[in-house]
Amino acid sequence: MDLSSYADLALDLVNTRQPSGDGLGDLDGLQALLAHRPHLGGRVTRRDLDAMRELRDELRAVFVAADHGDEEDAAERLNALLIQHPVHPQLSGHDAQGWHLHLNEGGSIPDRYAARAAMGLAVHISDRGMHGLGICATADCERVFLDTTPDASRRHCPAHTPANHQSAAPAPLPR
Ligand SMILES: [Zn+2]
Repeated sequence: MDLSSYADLALDLVNTRQPSGDGLGDLDGLQALLAHRPHLGGRVTRRDLDAMRELRDELRAVFVAADHGDEEDAAERLNALLIQHPVHPQLSGHDAQGWHLHLNEGGSIPDRYAARAAMGLAVHISDRGMHGLGICATADCERVFLDTTPDASRRHCPAHTPANHQSAAPAPLPR
């Protein structure tokens, strides 16, 4: 699996907190975040919820620093997370897939989540640079996003990006 795709874990976690409400207000919210995430299932506790909320703050701080143009600070914060949550890669070849890397099969769910999210973000940044890390400029929206357009010119999250600025194919003309 492409390790940079783990960066989605960072986005999904950070974006659980919005001015309209906190998606990690209780354990149900955490279960919802982890649903459909392979290898991140299992019973979660109040302690896990607290750890995930703390991780959310730390990951958001990386986006805030990058969004302010302070790339050194963003890198330092991400490096601190990488040290705190070391990656343990394993080769896996299940389900007739070719050999591919899995990260951190053991440990607590927050630890597994943190190691993958931090590694995914670090790989994404090393592939594409840090200028694509953004925070939505729409009032009342605090979503973070990864801008993968060539000039990283997006200022809004996908939900608030005008249709004519999206890279998707243009809508068909009405008949
Ligand atoms: Zn937005």
